[in-house]
Amino acid sequence: MNGSPRPDPTLRTNYERVLERIREACRRSGRDPGSVRLLAVSKTFEPERVLALASLGQRAFGENYLQEALQKIEACRDGRSSGVDERREPAARPSVPSLEWHFIGPIQSNKTRPIAAHFDWVHSIDREKIAARLGEQRPDGMAPLDCCVQVNVSGETSKSGCAPGEAIAVARAIVEQPRLRLRGVMAIPEPSDDESLQRRRFASARATLDLIRADLTARAPGAAGMLDTLSMGMSADLESAIAEGATIVRIGSALFGSRPPKP
Ligand SMILES: *Cc1c(COP(=O)(O)O)cnc(C)c1O
Repeated sequence: MNGSPRPDPTLRTNYERVLERIREACRRSGRDPGSVRLLAVSKTFEPERVLALASLGQRAFGENYLQEALQKIEACRDGRSSGVDERREPAARPSVPSLEWHFIGPIQSNKTRPIAAHFDWVHSIDREKIAARLGEQRPDGMAPLDCCVQVNVSGETSKSGCAPGEAIAVARAIVEQPRLRLRGVMAIPEPSDDESLQRRRFASARATLDLIRADLTARAPGAAGMLDTLSMGMSADLESAIAEGATIVRIGSALFGSRPPKP
């Protein structure tokens, strides 16, 4: 990669459209547009595309596949500093701010160490063992790792995420770790054209967050202080998710275009 990211008119248009969809969905449900954050899901897309979106103002990026993510995080760090003359005044350097990386994919327990070392957030914690390992492996000197419990709100049809009845145990396992910070719940409902079904599934993610909050508050007053996150809603259903209280929407194809089929 050389120099600053090239402007990309389609990416700019997509970005503006997605931000407008978020604002419009907030307006319709009487929510403050500042209460919903956009997580740009960059899996399968090149680091150049990440840097191009970053140059438009996007900071938070989500990745699913560890190897790909680690290479991209590294490449984006290099890309930000390439062509920069360190002797120049900071103001003369390209103004791409540092990025925030969110891990949102399935987690194998032998892959927790690099996740703990290279990410700012993990959305996809679905068992106690993963919480314990991430907490033990978060390196000294880094900020606490922001964490969500991934909950399966589609029942039998989906295998990702813990059952709603297990969410409290996973949440407690996160709270026990001083290097982890429990932020909320993440859900990926099965795709559906039935809007009321989507709404019910998102509502059940919100209900799980409420249960976790009640449990933590009962155990230690103030323990639920940072519990502010409902990570739900993707390109096809962000409006329903926002109507049910999403605070982070995870958007890939509506920003970057369609992805090649999975290998
Ligand atoms: C791929 C992915 C997304 C983004 O999906 P789009 O439909 O492309 O917006 C969001 N969340 C997770 C967990 C994903 O794997």
